[in-house]
Amino acid sequence: MGREYVIIGDGIAGATAAEEIRENDPSGEITIVTDEPVPLYNRVATKDLAKGDKDREDLMMHDREFYEKHDIDLRTNTRVTEIRDAERRVVCHDGSRYSFDKLLVASGGTPRRLPVPNSDAEGIHTFWTLDDADRLKKVAKDADDAVVIGAGLLGIDQAVIFGKHGANTRYLMRGNRWWRQGISKEGSEVVEKGLAEFGVECIFHEEVEQFDTQEGRVTECVGSSGKTYPCDAAGVAIGLHYNHEFLRGSRVKIGEGILTDEYMRTSVEDIYAAGDIAQYYDVVLDRVNQNGSWASAKEQGAVAGRNMTKDEDEDLEEFELVDTYSINHFDFFIMSVGSVLGDKKIDRVYDDGNYRRVIFFRDRPVGAVFVGDVTQAGIIRKIIGQKKDFSGREELLLEEEVDPTLLQ
Ligand SMILES: Cc1cc2nc3c(=O)[nH]c(=O)nc-3n(C[C@H](O)[C@H](O)[C@H](O)COP(=O)(O)OP(=O)(O)OC[C@H]3O[C@@H](n4cnc5c(N)ncnc54)[C@H](O)[C@@H]3O)c2cc1C
Repeated sequence: MGREYVIIGDGIAGATAAEEIRENDPSGEITIVTDEPVPLYNRVATKDLAKGDKDREDLMMHDREFYEKHDIDLRTNTRVTEIRDAERRVVCHDGSRYSFDKLLVASGGTPRRLPVPNSDAEGIHTFWTLDDADRLKKVAKDADDAVVIGAGLLGIDQAVIFGKHGANTRYLMRGNRWWRQGISKEGSEVVEKGLAEFGVECIFHEEVEQFDTQEGRVTECVGSSGKTYPCDAAGVAIGLHYNHEFLRGSRVKIGEGILTDEYMRTSVEDIYAAGDIAQYYDVVLDRVNQNGSWASAKEQGAVAGRNMTKDEDEDLEEFELVDTYSINHFDFFIMSVGSVLGDKKIDRVYDDGNYRRVIFFRDRPVGAVFVGDVTQAGIIRKIIGQKKDFSGREELLLEEEVDPTLLQ
Protein backbone atom coordinates (compact mmCIF):
# COMPACT_ATOMS: atom_id res chain seq x y z
CA MET A 1 0.00 0.00 0.00
CA GLY A 2 1.27 3.50 -0.86
CA ARG A 3 1.54 6.43 1.48
CA GLU A 4 -1.85 7.90 2.50
CA TYR A 5 -2.33 11.61 1.77
CA VAL A 6 -5.41 13.51 2.92
CA ILE A 7 -6.13 17.07 1.77
CA ILE A 8 -8.79 19.27 3.35
CA GLY A 9 -10.18 21.70 0.77
CA ASP A 10 -10.39 21.49 -3.01
CA GLY A 11 -9.64 25.16 -3.62
CA ILE A 12 -6.59 26.13 -5.65
CA ALA A 13 -4.16 25.31 -2.79
CA GLY A 14 -5.56 21.84 -2.09
CA ALA A 15 -6.11 20.89 -5.74
CA THR A 16 -2.60 22.00 -6.76
CA ALA A 17 -1.09 20.05 -3.89
CA ALA A 18 -2.93 16.91 -5.05
CA GLU A 19 -1.56 17.30 -8.57
CA GLU A 20 1.99 17.72 -7.27
CA ILE A 21 1.65 14.72 -4.98
CA ARG A 22 0.42 12.55 -7.83
CA GLU A 23 3.28 13.75 -10.04
CA ASN A 24 5.89 12.94 -7.38
CA ASP A 25 4.38 9.85 -5.77
CA PRO A 26 2.58 7.76 -8.40
CA SER A 27 1.61 5.04 -5.92
CA GLY A 28 0.36 7.33 -3.11
CA GLU A 29 -3.29 7.20 -2.07
CA ILE A 30 -4.77 10.68 -2.28
CA THR A 31 -8.10 11.76 -0.77
CA ILE A 32 -9.47 15.30 -1.01
CA VAL A 33 -12.29 16.22 1.35
CA THR A 34 -14.31 19.34 0.55
CA ASP A 35 -17.54 20.69 1.99
CA GLU A 36 -18.41 22.27 -1.37
CA PRO A 37 -20.71 20.41 -3.79
CA VAL A 38 -18.42 20.85 -6.81
CA PRO A 39 -14.75 20.28 -7.63
CA LEU A 40 -12.20 23.07 -8.14
CA TYR A 41 -13.41 26.21 -9.87
CA ASN A 42 -11.85 29.61 -10.48
CA ARG A 43 -12.79 31.57 -7.37
CA VAL A 44 -11.22 34.79 -8.70
CA ALA A 45 -13.58 34.69 -11.69
CA THR A 46 -16.70 34.33 -9.52
CA LYS A 47 -16.89 38.13 -9.71
CA ASP A 48 -17.18 37.87 -13.51
CA LEU A 49 -20.01 35.38 -13.09
CA ALA A 50 -21.78 37.75 -10.69
CA LYS A 51 -21.22 40.66 -13.08
CA GLY A 52 -22.79 38.63 -15.88
CA ASP A 53 -19.57 38.51 -17.94
CA LYS A 54 -19.04 34.74 -17.60
CA ASP A 55 -21.14 31.61 -17.21
CA ARG A 56 -20.86 29.06 -14.44
CA GLU A 57 -19.35 26.49 -16.82
CA ASP A 58 -16.55 28.91 -17.78
CA LEU A 59 -15.31 28.83 -14.18
CA MET A 60 -15.03 25.07 -13.73
CA MET A 61 -11.37 24.01 -13.67
CA HIS A 62 -11.61 20.30 -12.83
CA ASP A 63 -14.36 17.87 -13.70
CA ARG A 64 -14.93 14.48 -12.04
CA GLU A 65 -12.91 12.77 -14.77
CA PHE A 66 -9.84 14.72 -13.75
CA TYR A 67 -9.87 13.03 -10.33
CA GLU A 68 -10.48 9.60 -11.83
CA LYS A 69 -7.65 10.08 -14.29
CA HIS A 70 -5.25 11.09 -11.52
CA ASP A 71 -6.56 8.41 -9.17
CA ILE A 72 -7.65 10.95 -6.56
CA ASP A 73 -10.58 10.13 -4.30
CA LEU A 74 -12.65 13.34 -4.16
CA ARG A 75 -15.23 13.58 -1.38
CA THR A 76 -17.58 16.50 -2.03
CA ASN A 77 -20.24 17.78 0.42
CA THR A 78 -18.11 16.43 3.25
CA ARG A 79 -17.10 18.69 6.12
CA VAL A 80 -14.14 17.85 8.32
CA THR A 81 -15.10 18.30 11.97
CA GLU A 82 -12.08 16.98 13.84
CA ILE A 83 -8.42 16.10 13.40
CA ARG A 84 -7.10 13.42 15.73
CA ASP A 85 -3.44 14.13 15.21
CA ALA A 86 -2.12 11.42 17.54
CA GLU A 87 -4.23 8.79 15.75
CA ARG A 88 -3.49 10.40 12.36
CA ARG A 89 -7.15 10.48 11.51
CA VAL A 90 -9.57 13.00 9.99
CA VAL A 91 -13.20 12.85 11.13
CA CYS A 92 -16.07 14.23 9.04
CA HIS A 93 -19.61 15.45 9.76
CA ASP A 94 -21.20 12.29 8.34
CA GLY A 95 -19.09 10.00 10.51
CA SER A 96 -16.66 9.12 7.73
CA ARG A 97 -12.99 8.91 8.76
CA TYR A 98 -9.77 9.01 6.81
CA SER A 99 -6.40 7.92 8.11
CA PHE A 100 -3.33 9.74 6.88
CA ASP A 101 0.43 9.53 6.76
CA LYS A 102 0.56 13.14 5.54
CA LEU A 103 -2.19 15.73 5.92
CA LEU A 104 -2.62 19.08 4.19
CA VAL A 105 -5.03 21.65 5.60
CA ALA A 106 -6.05 24.00 2.77
CA SER A 107 -9.42 25.06 4.11
CA GLY A 108 -9.23 28.81 3.39
CA GLY A 109 -11.57 31.29 5.03
CA THR A 110 -15.24 32.24 5.30
CA PRO A 111 -16.49 35.84 4.99
CA ARG A 112 -17.34 37.50 8.29
CA ARG A 113 -20.77 38.91 8.97
CA LEU A 114 -21.14 42.44 10.29
CA PRO A 115 -21.54 42.39 14.08
CA VAL A 116 -24.60 44.68 14.02
CA PRO A 117 -28.33 44.09 14.56
CA ASN A 118 -30.15 42.34 11.69
CA SER A 119 -26.97 41.57 9.76
CA ASP A 120 -28.45 38.16 8.91
CA ALA A 121 -31.61 39.63 7.35
CA GLU A 122 -32.71 38.46 3.94
CA GLY A 123 -31.06 40.54 1.22
CA ILE A 124 -27.70 40.91 3.01
CA HIS A 125 -24.95 38.95 1.30
CA THR A 126 -21.37 37.92 1.67
CA PHE A 127 -19.48 36.51 -1.30
CA TRP A 128 -17.05 33.58 -1.47
CA THR A 129 -18.45 30.61 -3.42
CA LEU A 130 -19.81 29.80 -6.85
CA ASP A 131 -23.33 29.63 -5.41
CA ASP A 132 -22.82 33.01 -3.72
CA ALA A 133 -21.92 34.44 -7.14
CA ASP A 134 -25.10 33.10 -8.75
CA ARG A 135 -27.17 34.44 -5.87
CA LEU A 136 -25.47 37.84 -5.91
CA LYS A 137 -26.03 38.20 -9.64
CA LYS A 138 -29.75 37.62 -9.25
CA VAL A 139 -30.03 39.88 -6.19
CA ALA A 140 -28.08 42.68 -7.89
CA LYS A 141 -30.27 42.45 -11.00
CA ASP A 142 -33.43 42.73 -8.89
CA ALA A 143 -32.19 45.44 -6.52
CA ASP A 144 -33.27 49.07 -6.80
CA ASP A 145 -31.08 50.34 -3.96
CA ALA A 146 -27.97 48.61 -2.65
CA VAL A 147 -25.44 49.30 0.06
CA VAL A 148 -21.93 47.81 0.08
CA ILE A 149 -19.71 47.67 3.15
CA GLY A 150 -16.00 46.82 3.19
CA ALA A 151 -13.47 49.25 1.70
CA GLY A 152 -11.03 46.59 0.54
CA LEU A 153 -10.12 44.36 -2.38
CA LEU A 154 -13.27 42.22 -2.13
CA GLY A 155 -15.73 44.99 -1.22
CA ILE A 156 -14.95 46.81 -4.44
CA ASP A 157 -15.99 43.71 -6.41
CA GLN A 158 -19.43 43.80 -4.83
CA ALA A 159 -19.80 47.55 -5.40
CA VAL A 160 -19.04 47.06 -9.10
CA ILE A 161 -21.40 44.05 -9.35
CA PHE A 162 -24.35 45.99 -7.90
CA GLY A 163 -23.49 49.07 -9.96
CA LYS A 164 -23.11 47.10 -13.18
CA HIS A 165 -26.58 45.58 -12.78
CA GLY A 166 -28.08 49.04 -12.41
CA ALA A 167 -28.75 49.17 -8.67
CA ASN A 168 -28.51 52.59 -7.09
CA THR A 169 -25.36 51.67 -5.12
CA ARG A 170 -23.89 53.40 -2.09
CA TYR A 171 -20.47 52.21 -0.96
CA LEU A 172 -19.99 53.02 2.73
CA MET A 173 -16.44 53.34 4.06
CA ARG A 174 -15.21 53.98 7.58
CA GLY A 175 -12.27 56.20 6.63
CA ASN A 176 -11.72 58.97 4.10
CA ARG A 177 -10.84 56.66 1.21
CA TRP A 178 -10.99 53.23 -0.40
CA TRP A 179 -8.40 50.61 0.77
CA ARG A 180 -6.79 52.66 3.54
CA GLN A 181 -4.15 49.97 4.08
CA GLY A 182 -2.93 50.14 0.50
CA ILE A 183 -3.29 53.62 -0.97
CA SER A 184 -3.50 57.34 -0.17
CA LYS A 185 -6.48 59.63 -0.77
CA GLU A 186 -4.98 60.63 -4.15
CA GLY A 187 -4.84 56.99 -5.23
CA SER A 188 -8.36 56.41 -3.96
CA GLU A 189 -9.66 59.37 -5.99
CA VAL A 190 -8.65 57.61 -9.21
CA VAL A 191 -10.54 54.51 -8.06
CA GLU A 192 -13.56 56.59 -6.99
CA LYS A 193 -13.83 57.96 -10.55
CA GLY A 194 -13.83 54.39 -11.86
CA LEU A 195 -16.58 53.45 -9.41
CA ALA A 196 -18.63 56.49 -10.43
CA GLU A 197 -18.68 55.14 -13.98
CA PHE A 198 -20.58 52.13 -12.62
CA GLY A 199 -22.95 54.54 -10.84
CA VAL A 200 -21.45 53.73 -7.42
CA GLU A 201 -21.53 56.58 -4.91
CA CYS A 202 -18.71 56.45 -2.32
CA ILE A 203 -19.71 57.64 1.15
CA PHE A 204 -16.84 58.18 3.59
CA HIS A 205 -16.61 58.34 7.40
CA GLU A 206 -19.65 56.14 7.71
CA GLU A 207 -20.12 52.90 9.64
CA VAL A 208 -23.13 50.63 9.87
CA GLU A 209 -25.01 50.81 13.16
CA GLN A 210 -27.75 48.42 12.14
CA PHE A 211 -29.99 47.24 9.34
CA ASP A 212 -33.72 47.88 9.49
CA THR A 213 -35.99 45.16 8.20
CA GLN A 214 -39.57 44.41 7.29
CA GLU A 215 -40.77 40.82 7.60
CA GLY A 216 -37.17 39.69 7.82
CA ARG A 217 -36.01 41.55 4.68
CA VAL A 218 -33.55 44.41 4.77
CA THR A 219 -35.10 47.80 3.97
CA GLU A 220 -32.47 50.29 5.07
CA CYS A 221 -29.05 50.65 6.54
CA VAL A 222 -28.57 53.00 9.49
CA GLY A 223 -25.18 54.72 9.58
CA SER A 224 -23.23 55.92 12.62
CA SER A 225 -23.70 59.49 11.31
CA GLY A 226 -27.43 59.05 11.91
CA LYS A 227 -28.16 58.98 8.17
CA THR A 228 -30.19 56.15 6.73
CA TYR A 229 -29.65 54.53 3.35
CA PRO A 230 -32.56 52.71 1.72
CA CYS A 231 -31.56 49.28 0.45
CA ASP A 232 -33.30 46.16 -0.72
CA ALA A 233 -29.90 44.47 -0.92
CA ALA A 234 -26.55 44.81 0.81
CA GLY A 235 -23.10 43.34 0.17
CA VAL A 236 -20.68 42.83 3.04
CA ALA A 237 -16.93 42.18 2.63
CA ILE A 238 -15.22 42.93 5.93
CA GLY A 239 -12.65 40.13 5.90
CA LEU A 240 -12.48 36.42 6.58
CA HIS A 241 -12.44 34.20 9.58
CA TYR A 242 -10.22 31.23 8.90
CA ASN A 243 -11.57 27.70 8.78
CA HIS A 244 -9.53 25.93 11.45
CA GLU A 245 -12.16 25.19 14.11
CA PHE A 246 -11.75 21.43 13.45
CA LEU A 247 -8.17 21.69 14.75
CA ARG A 248 -9.34 22.59 18.24
CA GLY A 249 -8.13 19.81 20.51
CA SER A 250 -5.19 18.97 18.24
CA ARG A 251 -1.60 20.09 18.83
CA VAL A 252 -1.49 22.18 15.65
CA LYS A 253 -0.59 25.77 16.60
CA ILE A 254 -3.02 28.43 15.50
CA GLY A 255 -2.56 32.19 15.26
CA GLU A 256 -4.90 34.14 13.02
CA GLY A 257 -4.48 31.26 10.56
CA ILE A 258 -2.52 28.02 10.94
CA LEU A 259 1.12 28.69 11.79
CA THR A 260 3.67 27.12 9.45
CA ASP A 261 7.33 27.44 8.66
CA GLU A 262 8.69 28.34 5.21
CA TYR A 263 8.20 24.71 4.11
CA MET A 264 4.47 24.90 4.92
CA ARG A 265 4.89 22.50 7.87
CA THR A 266 2.70 23.10 10.91
CA SER A 267 3.82 22.52 14.49
CA VAL A 268 2.79 18.85 14.20
CA GLU A 269 4.91 16.46 12.20
CA ASP A 270 3.42 15.41 8.84
CA ILE A 271 0.66 18.02 8.98
CA TYR A 272 1.01 20.87 6.48
CA ALA A 273 -1.07 23.96 5.70
CA ALA A 274 -1.28 26.05 2.51
CA GLY A 275 -3.27 28.85 0.91
CA ASP A 276 -5.29 31.58 2.62
CA ILE A 277 -5.34 29.59 5.88
CA ALA A 278 -1.54 29.48 6.23
CA GLN A 279 0.19 32.02 8.43
CA TYR A 280 3.67 31.16 7.27
CA TYR A 281 7.23 32.31 7.69
CA ASP A 282 7.90 34.51 4.66
CA VAL A 283 11.52 34.29 3.53
CA VAL A 284 11.16 37.34 1.27
CA LEU A 285 9.91 39.60 4.08
CA ASP A 286 11.78 37.79 6.88
CA ARG A 287 8.68 37.75 9.05
CA VAL A 288 5.44 35.87 9.57
CA ASN A 289 2.90 36.65 6.86
CA GLN A 290 -0.47 35.56 5.54
CA ASN A 291 -1.63 36.10 1.96
CA GLY A 292 -5.08 36.15 0.44
CA SER A 293 -4.42 35.62 -3.21
CA TRP A 294 -4.84 33.01 -5.90
CA ALA A 295 -1.19 33.02 -7.01
CA SER A 296 0.10 32.58 -3.49
CA ALA A 297 -2.40 29.81 -2.64
CA LYS A 298 -1.48 27.94 -5.82
CA GLU A 299 2.26 28.16 -5.20
CA GLN A 300 1.95 27.26 -1.51
CA GLY A 301 -0.16 24.24 -2.47
CA ALA A 302 2.49 23.18 -4.98
CA VAL A 303 5.35 23.55 -2.48
CA ALA A 304 3.42 21.76 0.28
CA GLY A 305 2.44 18.94 -2.08
CA ARG A 306 6.02 18.35 -3.20
CA ASN A 307 7.36 18.53 0.35
CA MET A 308 4.77 16.02 1.55
CA THR A 309 6.12 13.43 -0.88
CA LYS A 310 9.72 13.76 0.31
CA ASP A 311 11.48 11.23 2.49
CA GLU A 312 13.06 12.24 5.79
CA ASP A 313 16.57 12.51 4.35
CA GLU A 314 15.56 14.76 1.44
CA ASP A 315 15.82 18.56 1.53
CA LEU A 316 12.53 20.41 1.70
CA GLU A 317 11.60 23.27 -0.63
CA GLU A 318 10.94 26.78 0.69
CA PHE A 319 7.92 28.79 -0.33
CA GLU A 320 9.30 32.02 -1.78
CA LEU A 321 7.04 34.37 -3.71
CA VAL A 322 6.46 38.09 -4.08
CA ASP A 323 2.68 38.01 -4.19
CA THR A 324 0.51 39.85 -6.74
CA TYR A 325 -3.15 40.83 -6.79
CA SER A 326 -4.84 42.82 -9.55
CA ILE A 327 -8.25 44.33 -10.14
CA ASN A 328 -9.47 44.93 -13.68
CA HIS A 329 -13.02 46.25 -13.40
CA PHE A 330 -12.10 49.64 -14.82
CA ASP A 331 -10.41 51.06 -17.90
CA PHE A 332 -7.28 51.19 -15.72
CA PHE A 333 -5.65 48.54 -13.53
CA ILE A 334 -5.15 48.37 -9.80
CA MET A 335 -2.25 46.12 -8.88
CA SER A 336 -0.59 45.25 -5.62
CA VAL A 337 2.73 43.39 -5.39
CA GLY A 338 4.33 42.08 -2.20
CA SER A 339 3.05 43.33 1.14
CA VAL A 340 1.34 46.63 2.00
CA LEU A 341 2.50 46.31 5.61
CA GLY A 342 5.75 48.12 6.37
CA ASP A 343 7.29 50.84 8.51
CA LYS A 344 7.63 53.43 5.72
CA LYS A 345 5.69 54.26 2.58
CA ILE A 346 6.16 56.78 -0.21
CA ASP A 347 3.59 57.81 -2.83
CA ARG A 348 3.46 59.69 -6.09
CA VAL A 349 0.70 60.88 -8.40
CA TYR A 350 2.07 61.31 -11.93
CA ASP A 351 1.09 64.02 -14.45
CA ASP A 352 -1.16 61.63 -16.35
CA GLY A 353 -3.10 60.78 -13.17
CA ASN A 354 -1.41 57.44 -12.49
CA TYR A 355 -0.59 56.60 -8.88
CA ARG A 356 2.11 54.51 -7.20
CA ARG A 357 2.96 53.66 -3.61
CA VAL A 358 6.09 51.80 -2.51
CA ILE A 359 6.25 50.21 0.95
CA PHE A 360 9.46 49.56 2.92
CA PHE A 361 10.20 47.47 5.99
CA ARG A 362 13.53 47.95 7.76
CA ASP A 363 14.80 49.93 4.73
CA ARG A 364 13.97 47.17 2.25
CA PRO A 365 11.20 47.52 -0.35
CA VAL A 366 8.53 44.93 0.51
CA GLY A 367 5.55 46.00 -1.55
CA ALA A 368 4.05 48.40 -4.08
CA VAL A 369 0.60 49.42 -5.25
CA PHE A 370 -0.18 50.80 -8.70
CA VAL A 371 -3.36 52.52 -9.84
CA GLY A 372 -3.40 53.14 -13.58
CA ASP A 373 -0.05 52.40 -15.17
CA VAL A 374 1.22 49.00 -14.00
CA THR A 375 4.15 48.69 -16.40
CA GLN A 376 6.70 49.06 -13.58
CA ALA A 377 5.12 46.36 -11.42
CA GLY A 378 7.32 43.64 -12.90
CA ILE A 379 10.65 45.32 -12.21
CA ILE A 380 9.62 46.46 -8.73
CA ARG A 381 8.47 42.94 -7.94
CA LYS A 382 11.90 41.63 -8.91
CA ILE A 383 13.61 44.33 -6.83
CA ILE A 384 11.50 43.33 -3.80
CA GLY A 385 12.65 39.75 -4.36
CA GLN A 386 16.29 40.85 -4.23
CA LYS A 387 15.84 41.90 -0.57
CA LYS A 388 18.26 44.85 -0.92
CA ASP A 389 18.66 47.82 1.40
CA PHE A 390 17.26 51.01 -0.21
CA SER A 391 17.86 53.51 2.57
CA GLY A 392 18.44 56.96 1.06
CA ARG A 393 17.47 55.65 -2.41
CA GLU A 394 13.76 55.04 -1.84
CA GLU A 395 12.60 57.68 -4.36
CA LEU A 396 14.30 55.77 -7.21
CA LEU A 397 11.41 53.32 -7.02
CA LEU A 398 8.95 56.12 -7.77
CA GLU A 399 10.70 57.08 -11.03
CA GLU A 400 8.24 56.89 -13.91
CA GLU A 401 10.54 54.26 -15.43
CA VAL A 402 12.55 52.43 -12.82
CA ASP A 403 16.24 52.16 -13.74
CA PRO A 404 16.83 48.53 -14.80
CA THR A 405 20.39 48.64 -13.43
CA LEU A 406 18.84 48.61 -9.93
CA LEU A 407 18.25 44.94 -10.61
CA GLN A 408 21.94 44.12 -10.76
C1 LIG B 1 -15.06 37.26 -5.18
C2 LIG B 1 -13.60 36.98 -5.01
C3 LIG B 1 -12.68 37.66 -5.78
C4 LIG B 1 -11.32 37.41 -5.64
N1 LIG B 1 -10.47 38.08 -6.44
C5 LIG B 1 -9.16 37.80 -6.39
C6 LIG B 1 -8.24 38.40 -7.31
O1 LIG B 1 -8.62 39.22 -8.15
N2 LIG B 1 -6.93 38.05 -7.23
C7 LIG B 1 -6.48 37.14 -6.31
O2 LIG B 1 -5.28 36.84 -6.29
N3 LIG B 1 -7.32 36.57 -5.41
C8 LIG B 1 -8.64 36.87 -5.43
N4 LIG B 1 -9.50 36.28 -4.55
C9 LIG B 1 -8.94 35.46 -3.46
C10 LIG B 1 -8.59 34.06 -3.94
O3 LIG B 1 -9.69 33.51 -4.61
C11 LIG B 1 -8.19 33.22 -2.73
O4 LIG B 1 -7.05 33.81 -2.14
C12 LIG B 1 -7.86 31.77 -3.11
O5 LIG B 1 -8.91 31.20 -3.82
C13 LIG B 1 -7.58 30.97 -1.84
O6 LIG B 1 -7.45 29.62 -2.17
P1 LIG B 1 -7.41 28.50 -1.04
O7 LIG B 1 -7.31 27.21 -1.78
O8 LIG B 1 -6.40 28.84 -0.04
O9 LIG B 1 -8.80 28.61 -0.27
P2 LIG B 1 -10.28 28.43 -0.81
O10 LIG B 1 -10.38 28.73 -2.26
O11 LIG B 1 -11.14 29.22 0.11
O12 LIG B 1 -10.57 26.88 -0.63
C14 LIG B 1 -10.75 26.28 0.61
C15 LIG B 1 -11.76 25.17 0.46
O13 LIG B 1 -11.83 24.42 1.68
C16 LIG B 1 -13.19 24.13 1.96
N5 LIG B 1 -13.33 23.88 3.40
C17 LIG B 1 -13.27 24.78 4.41
N6 LIG B 1 -13.47 24.17 5.61
C18 LIG B 1 -13.66 22.86 5.34
C19 LIG B 1 -13.94 21.72 6.15
N7 LIG B 1 -14.05 21.81 7.48
N8 LIG B 1 -14.09 20.52 5.55
C20 LIG B 1 -13.99 20.40 4.19
N9 LIG B 1 -13.74 21.45 3.37
C21 LIG B 1 -13.57 22.66 3.94
C22 LIG B 1 -13.90 25.40 1.50
O14 LIG B 1 -15.28 25.21 1.30
C23 LIG B 1 -13.17 25.69 0.20
O15 LIG B 1 -13.73 24.99 -0.87
C24 LIG B 1 -10.87 36.49 -4.67
C25 LIG B 1 -11.79 35.81 -3.88
C26 LIG B 1 -13.15 36.04 -4.04
C27 LIG B 1 -14.15 35.30 -3.21
